[in-house]
Parts: sequence; structure tokens; C-alpha cells
Amino acid sequence: MDIDSVWERLHKKSELNVGVGLECREWLGGVNKDGYGVLKVKINDQYKVVSAHRLAYWVFIGHCDTVGYDASHLCHNKKCIRIDHISMEPTHINQSRKHCSNEGRCFTHHGYLDCLFPCKSVFIIYTNMHY
Ligand SMILES: [Zn+2]
Ligand SMILES: [Zn+2]
Repeated sequence: MDIDSVWERLHKKSELNVGVGLECREWLGGVNKDGYGVLKVKINDQYKVVSAHRLAYWVFIGHCDTVGYDASHLCHNKKCIRIDHISMEPTHINQSRKHCSNEGRCFTHHGYLDCLFPCKSVFIIYTNMHY
């Protein structure tokens, strides 16, 4: 797999979404049944469908061993492939983020990064523009 061409594909098929207040980089290509961005890449002469955010993280971090870890979205945006919105962590940490997503704020994750939510003041300014 050519890292540069993968990176280029990820970049070309995604765009910055500033509207949500977090500046997520959203995948514009196909999504799987769970709503995560996916793409087909050639690995060892075989085509495989991989998740876009996991691939983005893997390409960027390179040699990092991520087997057995979830690529968790700190921003709770399944289409986001922005590296600093993704955290490699054990499944139970990833699962615990669902609670934060449901409540709209982070309950902290003991040794792992906090979830990202739009800053309240930004949100107020943003909603005020509609009135
Ligand atoms: Zn994001
Ligand atoms: Zn959280």
C-alpha cells in the first residue's frame, strides 16, 4: 500500500465541516451499515474494505500497533477522519463514550482523552445567527 496515495485519497474524498463547531473532516465516500466511512484499498495484492477513520489514523501514525484497539471518535461524528478527533483505545473506553454522546457532555475516561463537544459560547453565537 502506497501511503502517499492513500493519504491523498483520504484528503480528496473528505471536506472540513465547520458548521458543527468542531471542524470535523468528513468522509464523502461510501459508508457501511453502521454509518462509518469506508473505502477499498489494496493490501498485499488483495483488495480490502477498511474504515476510513481507522485508515487515516493508521497512515498518519504509521508503525503504531493498533490491533485489538478501537479507533474511537472523540467528536462522535462517524464520518470524521480528522486525526486529532480519533483515539486508539480499548473497546470498553470506546463504549463508555456512548454515555457522553447521549448526555451531550463528557464524563471523562480515566487516562484517555475527553470527548469533544462544540464549545457552548460558539454554539450560542452560531444559533443566534438564525434569529
Ligand atoms: Zn471530528
Ligand atoms: Zn466522554
